[in-house]
Amino acid sequence: MATVEAPASDAKNAPVETYDAIIIGAGMTGIGQLYHLRSQGLNVRLLERGGGVGGTWYWHRYPGCCFDSESETYAFGFSKELAEEWDWSEHFEAQPNTERYINYAVDKFGLREHIQLNAQVDAATWLEDDNVWELELSDGARLRARFVVAALGILSAAAHYIPDFEGLEDFKGEWLHPANWPHEPIDFAGKRVGVIGTGSTGVQITEQLAKVAGQLHVFQRTPTYIGPLHNGPVSAETQREWKDGYEELMEFCRNTPAGFRYVPDMRPTMSVSKEERWAFYERLWQRPGFEKWLANFFDVTLDAEANADFAEFFRGKIRERIHDPELAEKLVPSPDLPFGSRRIPLETSYYDAFNRDNVSLVDLRETSIERFTENGILTSDGEVELDFVIFATGYDSFTGGFDQIDIRGVGGRLLREKWQEEGIGTYLGLTVAGFPNFFTQVPRAFCNFPRCSEVIVDWVSALIARMNERGLTRFEATQQAHDDWVEHERSFSSGQLFASQDSWFNGGNIPGKAKGFLLYAQSLPGYRTELHEALDADFRGFEIR
Ligand code: NAP
Repeated sequence: MATVEAPASDAKNAPVETYDAIIIGAGMTGIGQLYHLRSQGLNVRLLERGGGVGGTWYWHRYPGCCFDSESETYAFGFSKELAEEWDWSEHFEAQPNTERYINYAVDKFGLREHIQLNAQVDAATWLEDDNVWELELSDGARLRARFVVAALGILSAAAHYIPDFEGLEDFKGEWLHPANWPHEPIDFAGKRVGVIGTGSTGVQITEQLAKVAGQLHVFQRTPTYIGPLHNGPVSAETQREWKDGYEELMEFCRNTPAGFRYVPDMRPTMSVSKEERWAFYERLWQRPGFEKWLANFFDVTLDAEANADFAEFFRGKIRERIHDPELAEKLVPSPDLPFGSRRIPLETSYYDAFNRDNVSLVDLRETSIERFTENGILTSDGEVELDFVIFATGYDSFTGGFDQIDIRGVGGRLLREKWQEEGIGTYLGLTVAGFPNFFTQVPRAFCNFPRCSEVIVDWVSALIARMNERGLTRFEATQQAHDDWVEHERSFSSGQLFASQDSWFNGGNIPGKAKGFLLYAQSLPGYRTELHEALDADFRGFEIR
C-alpha cells in the first residue's frame, strides 16, 4: 500500500504512513504476530507505548517479579533455533531475564526496525470509504492500515487499578503500582512499607520486601490459596534436555487442555479413597508450579465436594507454615472460597515472611482502611505510619486496555460503548461485530499464556493470508455470530466453581464494571479447532468482501 499525504489541516502536517497491518503492543503476542506477518511479506508496523519491548515484562520491574509457567514452556514456540540459543537460568524465570529473552528474539529475527516505541495510540477509527483504519498517536501523528491487531494484553499495565482511597493526595510518602515500577531500583532498606493486595503481585513483592524493609505491613482483604512454586536454578543437564526435546515439548503443551507440560488426572476425586487422594495431593504439593491446580483431579474446580476436599488439604499446608496459630487462621482462606475460583498465586517464602518480626498483617476483614493521611493509612484500629505504599491491587482485565483507546468502528461507534451497552463480547475471542479488520488479539483461554498466544497469532496470520490470496480486503463478524459466540463462551463457564467468585476472571475486582466471565474456559486444543473450523468453513460468521 502507498504512503498518502495528510490533509493540510492536519496539526502535524506530516505524511500519513500506511501499512498492511498495524499491531498495537510489544508483548509476547504482539511480537509473535509481527514475526509471522513479516514472514508473510506484509508491511507491518508495531506501536508500543513503552520505551522498550516486552509488554508486561517491560513494565513490571518490581522485586520478585517472575512468571509461574515453566520457563521452557513460556517461550516463543516458533523457532527451534531460538530455543537452542537461549539458556533459561531458573525454572520460573525472573523479569529481567524474560525481558532480555524478548529483546534477544526481537533482534535475532530483525524485528526492531518495525517497532515504534513511545508510541501511545489514542484513537483508531475505521474509514469505511477507504476500507482502512486510521490511528492517531498522542503526539498527533497518524498512521493507516488495512488491519489492526490490538495485542493489548489481558492484564494490560496501562489498565492497572488503584482503588479510590480517600486522602491519597495528602500522603507525603511515596506510592506506586507495580505496573509502573521505575527502572532505577528503590531502596526500601529500613523503610516502613505498606503493600495493599495479596494476589500474585502482592505475594511476590511481600516475599522480597520482607527481607529488606524496616517494617512491612501487608493489607489483606481476602486470604486465598497460595501454593508453593518450588523454583530453582536450571542445571546444564536439564537445559540440554529442554533443547533436545524442544519440538516434542511444544507439541505436547499445544495438546494439553491448558497449554502446560502436565495434564489433569481424569479420575473423579471422590472415586478415589481418602488415603490415596491425600497421598496424591502430597505428591502434587512437592511438584513445581501449577501442577497442584492443573495436574490435579479434573473435577477439582468443577465439583463442590472434590473442591472442598483439596481445599481442606491446602488450608492444612498453610497452617503448618505460620508459627502463630491465631495469625495462621487469618492467612488461611475461608472454606467458602472455592480453591481455583481465583488464579492461585505461587510462593517461595510468602508465609515465612509472616514469622518475621518486621512483617505484620493488617486483616481488612477485622479493620478497614478509613483514609490516607499525611503519614500513612488510617484504619479503624489506628494509623499505620508509612514511607511507601505499594498498590498491588490488580488490573481492569481484558477490556481495560481497549477502553483507553477511542476505537471507532462502523458508523463511528466506540468499542467501549458497544461493550457497555451490549455487554462485553467478541466473535471467536478475537473480532467484534461492527469493527471490520480489527483483532482484539488477547489470549483469553484458561492457560499458559504464550501457548494460547501462538494459537491466536497463527489464526490471525492465517486469516490475513487467506484474505490476501483471494483478493479480499474487508472482513467483519456478523452480529449473529458475535451474539452466538458470547452465549457459547458463557455456556462454558456457567455454574462452574472457577467462575463463582469476584476476581479479574469476571470483572468483579473493579467496582462498577459489568460482570461476565472474561476468560474462555474452553481447552486450548478445543479453542484452536474452533478457530480454524470457522476459517475453513469459508470464513463462517464473517461477512467478507
Ligand atoms: P489481583 O490478583 O487482582 O489481586 C489484587 C489484590 O488487591 C487482591 O488481594 C485484592 O483483594 C486486593 N484489593 C483490590 N482492591 C482492594 C481494596 N480496595 N482494598 C484492599 N485490597 C484490595 O492482582 P495481581 O496480584 O496484580 O495479579 C493479577 C494477575 O496478574 C494474576 O492473577 C496473574 O495472572 C498475573 N500475575 C502473574 C504473575 C506471575 O506470573 N507470577 C505475577 C503477578 C501477576 P481481594 O482478593 O479481596 O479482591
